[in-house]
Amino acid sequence: MAATTRVAPPAIIAQAGAELLAQIATRPSIDRDAAANAVGKAMEQLIAGIPYRREGPIFLFPSRSRKGRIEHRTERDSCSCEAGQDGIPCWHRPARYLIIVLTRRQAQAAAEAAEHAGELPPPPTGCRHCHNRMIAATPPGGEACYECERCHWTVMAALFAPAQLDQVHREPAQAQPTRSQQRAA
Ligand SMILES: [Zn+2]
Ligand SMILES: [Zn+2]
Repeated sequence: MAATTRVAPPAIIAQAGAELLAQIATRPSIDRDAAANAVGKAMEQLIAGIPYRREGPIFLFPSRSRKGRIEHRTERDSCSCEAGQDGIPCWHRPARYLIIVLTRRQAQAAAEAAEHAGELPPPPTGCRHCHNRMIAATPPGGEACYECERCHWTVMAALFAPAQLDQVHREPAQAQPTRSQQRAA
């Protein structure tokens, strides 16, 4: 059983979902109500931290009704779930889309944060409050930081690697023995 981990903080999922809803509203060729319902359900599932597996472009979501005994196979334009097979918009496809968008944005934010800070120091091992994973984030202010993916506790990335500390860490690899060590040897 895959761990239930949210792809992004709820507010970020909701924001990406809202953007998708806005896109749907501008497309006259589709059943907009059905599509909007599917997006709403996808947001709900992602916020709940639904597990999924990814095999490249194919996403596999556990079937909720059958307690994970089967998986729905979701691709860009098709889904193996009952609704999908009947041509009804299911939540798996917007969920797949949102996961792709959100993970891409996280990678971009992490890359930007790394660029901004020269080289981003390693993240804290876990959130001080809830011990969940800390992920790179770039707040509106622009300073690279790490944010807890669960409780959103945020710390400045710079706090974890003062420049001098970084040099001290690198030196031992090439350090010559000190005089006192040579004498001892
Ligand atoms: Zn589906
Ligand atoms: Zn936390």
